[in-house]
Amino acid sequence: MIIARKIEQLKTLLAKARLSGHKVGLVPTMGYLHEGHLSLVETIVPYVDLVVMSIFVNPTQFSPSEDYESYPRDLEKDIKRAESAGVEIIFSPSVREMYPKGYQSFIHVDKVSEGLCGASRPHHFRGVTTVVGKLFNIVQPDFAVFGEKDYQQLVVIKQMVKDLNFPVRILGSPIIREDDGLAKSSRNVYLSPEQRRNAPLLYCTLQSVKDAFEGGERTGKTLVEMTRQALDIPEVQIDYIELVHAESLQPLQGKIHSQPVLLALAVYMGSTRLIDNIRLQ
Ligand code: AMP
Repeated sequence: MIIARKIEQLKTLLAKARLSGHKVGLVPTMGYLHEGHLSLVETIVPYVDLVVMSIFVNPTQFSPSEDYESYPRDLEKDIKRAESAGVEIIFSPSVREMYPKGYQSFIHVDKVSEGLCGASRPHHFRGVTTVVGKLFNIVQPDFAVFGEKDYQQLVVIKQMVKDLNFPVRILGSPIIREDDGLAKSSRNVYLSPEQRRNAPLLYCTLQSVKDAFEGGERTGKTLVEMTRQALDIPEVQIDYIELVHAESLQPLQGKIHSQPVLLALAVYMGSTRLIDNIRLQ
């Protein structure tokens, strides 16, 4: 396992690997690794010869009021976990390495960035696409993988790759959950014991609305309202609940026919923001 902290060091390593004909896979993360992150490695391994994982808490995707400073970090533990999952190179740059003094360029993806998390976190996706675009240029991976837990992020990255002709193939990877259904997330450590006890309600609700959908309920507005009612407890503050087309992310309010549909939500439990989603078709 190699830990690269400098862009030039990583580029030299990867140039050698590419000369030997190795296909390179990239797993971008912010670290504090859990099984969700490690499952991304499993997803990409069959496609590539060498897995690079980036571990970088990216300041440009946090607003000043968000948890950039307090975001959990544990590089030592991450290195051990990543190595046992099959990662060959960790790229863990400093903020100055990625955004040197005088930095002023950003990537903006339009429509698919605007709704859902983009509505309540207006600069978030600009930060995500910028850092991922930079990582693509630095690593030049053949494949990169993103989790469906951050479903909108996956759609935004696919759009960016298509529009800006990045020569990389994007893989999606299913959501990994705790035994009680809570989607694994580095931010789950923020939950108090009581919030943690209530948190499985999110997935439980998504599943019961999926059951209603499969039982014949096809009105977008009704499905959203069912979700809202099930989450109407004092411990949960709803940021958004939306039923959207799974590719365009445009809201679906009326009758759903054969289009691919995603039910997505974000809530606060105390000051912790949790997101989850489920495909209905
Ligand atoms: P993060 O470190 O939270 O920025 O996440 C890095 C990558 O891991 C993103 O592509 C996430 O979608 C993915 N990821 C995080 N949690 C999960 C999970 N529970 N299941 C699947 N993928 C996940």
